[in-house]
Amino acid sequence: PEILVGMATCGIAAGAKNTFNALEKALKKKGMSDVKVSPVGCIGSCYCEPTIQVNIPGQAPAYYGYVDEAAAGIIVDSHFGEGEVPERNMLEIGFERADQEGSGKKRQKRIALRNCGSVDPQNIMDYIAYRGYEALGKVLEQKDPDSVLEIIKKSGLRGRGGGGYPTGYKWHATALQPAKEKYIICNADEGDPGAFMDRSILEGDPHSVLEAMAIGGYATGANQGIIYIRAEYPLAIERLKIAIAQAKELGLLGENIFGSGFDFSIELRLGAGAFVCGEETALIHSVEGERGEPTKKPPYPSVSGYKEKPTTVNNVETLANVPSIILNGADWFAGIGTEKSKGTKVFALVGKVNRVGLVEVPMGTTLREIIYDIGGGINNDKEFRAVQTGGPSGGVITVEHLDTPIDYDSLKEIGSMMGSGGMIVMDETDCMVNIAKFYLGFTQEESCGKCTPCRIGTKRMYEILDQITKGEGQFEDLEKLERLGNNIKLSALCGLGQTAPNPVLSTMKYFREEYERHVTDHK
Ligand code: SF4
Repeated sequence: PEILVGMATCGIAAGAKNTFNALEKALKKKGMSDVKVSPVGCIGSCYCEPTIQVNIPGQAPAYYGYVDEAAAGIIVDSHFGEGEVPERNMLEIGFERADQEGSGKKRQKRIALRNCGSVDPQNIMDYIAYRGYEALGKVLEQKDPDSVLEIIKKSGLRGRGGGGYPTGYKWHATALQPAKEKYIICNADEGDPGAFMDRSILEGDPHSVLEAMAIGGYATGANQGIIYIRAEYPLAIERLKIAIAQAKELGLLGENIFGSGFDFSIELRLGAGAFVCGEETALIHSVEGERGEPTKKPPYPSVSGYKEKPTTVNNVETLANVPSIILNGADWFAGIGTEKSKGTKVFALVGKVNRVGLVEVPMGTTLREIIYDIGGGINNDKEFRAVQTGGPSGGVITVEHLDTPIDYDSLKEIGSMMGSGGMIVMDETDCMVNIAKFYLGFTQEESCGKCTPCRIGTKRMYEILDQITKGEGQFEDLEKLERLGNNIKLSALCGLGQTAPNPVLSTMKYFREEYERHVTDHK
């Protein structure tokens, strides 16, 4: 028997360390030395942390949320003593672990998050027990990097960081380069407000990313991997360091992996929290020790990237899918999702929903299913107003699009974007002009200043919005805002500037009357 305690940043912030200690103490008191208490990553239900899972051979696992020290004692009593099974069992709550028809679990499918909440991220043997490094072994045994490229291409996997570029084709572009020295970089510079998908994967299942990087390195001809991770993620960094050391010790990273002759090592580089460094050319400059500024493409990093060598840049979630695709096959992955967006997507579901957390759903799931079936609807019985997807680069989605099956293309069609997976739900009390101002303020502050449309244009847009929210705006300002926004989209150098006006333009499209009220009500 064992008890798993969710000890990602969310769990620890809610007191999971105390829960962990209380469980050990209660078990010791009962003389249950055979019950192991293990720290695991986030299982997704951040809304009811601390969470635990009780596994007893021959019984269905039991999940509990809101487990404080007192509840820990009651749970130990009930499972390993005479006590009654306590309430607050998450099977009844119906989030991602519930099995009943129509519940959250039925809606979710875990590929990228498959091990989060199940394996101890600081124990490589746990990952190995869940078929960890088997995909790498398979690839190295087959000695056919081209077939790996074909599998990833055929699977339809697309970049989960926001761009949605087909991963197999990105790998292929690097593989085609004749250079001897190549790199694969994992982009862990997650910076969207409200987004924590990549952090959770790295805190809960770091080896899945290390294994995928080694597979990508083998397929593209790179022997060196770099994880560029923001310094504000100390727990993820610590667990990555442990994971890299353990993988090296077992010969799963380093020289001659599995006796195949393939060498691959991984090092960490810490980012200083600049949002623009999530853009791959800016990221590469930052890794090189230069100022994190984007440069024009082409040349693409796959041709000339880190140290001007061919470099593949993949996001954390993208990579976390790779070992499962190798093990289960391209057709398996391509069978999940929609015609042009295969597999699943992890979303950080936050804002005014009852169940805040991390959800992973097949592409094509509707927003209504995510917000109502999994998220439990809007809190305090308020009305749904809008949801922002794609973070500061995306836009708002309104009630009329709640039943749109979401994928890369459908979100673009309705004026937003997939982005990296932040999903911020707003209710009837939220002012859409203020929301737009918040996002624009964020991108304005994060603009690297290299090109004029973004540096000056977003500043002027922010000033206009500021006046409008203070009740000092004019009708002409609305037109000016739209004109400026459309011009910046067309003329900014990189994705940050090209998408910065989106939250303003989309709220103006769907909530124009709210903008107009701001400029008329004060007259
Ligand atoms: Fe820098 Fe903005 Fe121009 Fe991008 S669009 S290069 S962030 S100033």
